[in-house]
Amino acid sequence: MSDSATEAGTDRVAEIFAAARDAGRQLLSEVEAKAALGAAGVPVTPTRLAAGAAEAVAIAGELGYPVVLKVVSDTITHKSDIGGVELHLDDAAAVEAAYGRIRAAAEAAAGAEAFGGVSVQPMAAPGAEVIMGMTQDPQFGPVLMFGLGGVLVEVLKDVAFRVVPLEPHDAAEMIREIQAFPVLEGYRGAPPADLAALEAILLALSEFAEAHPEVQELDLNPILARHDGATAVDARIVLTPA
Ligand code: ADP
Ligand code: MG
Repeated sequence: MSDSATEAGTDRVAEIFAAARDAGRQLLSEVEAKAALGAAGVPVTPTRLAAGAAEAVAIAGELGYPVVLKVVSDTITHKSDIGGVELHLDDAAAVEAAYGRIRAAAEAAAGAEAFGGVSVQPMAAPGAEVIMGMTQDPQFGPVLMFGLGGVLVEVLKDVAFRVVPLEPHDAAEMIREIQAFPVLEGYRGAPPADLAALEAILLALSEFAEAHPEVQELDLNPILARHDGATAVDARIVLTPA
């Protein structure tokens, strides 16, 4: 990115963070987190907030089908656990029905005030699910994490860590040092993942963490790693206390 593009991105990120602060929130919504990361050069699915079913249908029409609807809530963190994620919605009727189901599921799980509408985004092309994250270490400052999605991270703790700032060789090495790396090289006829695209995301996250020390925690879970690029379909950012 050129310097002016980087500056415009940084301004946009500051705006998004300020809006959350003004609303008294440390936790950004999926829509806000993706907007901030997108402005920082991280590939994310374009994702918009809909306050009602008709608005969700209108946005879906603009983005193009098939789309995904997800619950927006300050209190629900694992959206799919409560029935808050609906994939493969092919038309307006499917979007309208999914909106109603997500609203009912959110209200049943966490109360009426927990439902803040839905996010609408296109279905992303399939790929291997990888995870990237950032946490603030009291001693080392921001630390980046990389792993493969699902049980590999949760149960086997098969992840790699690097302290920010990352050099290009750090990004290349951390991807290759997880046990599950052969999965990304392609197995059983699956094409290899675009490792350069994953490295570029790690480097963009490193810059993002350096430029914005007010980010306490961030998660991209998952990023879909294809043979031709990689796109984050879920994002979470927590800001430091005001
Ligand atoms: P949560 O982690 O809060 O349960 P996610 O946003 O990660 O919710 O969605 C759950 C799963 O749905 C993801 O792990 C991914 O497999 C799939 N998914 C989410 N968004 C998309 C998308 N835009 N395109 C394709 N698959 C998606
Ligand atoms: Mg997720």
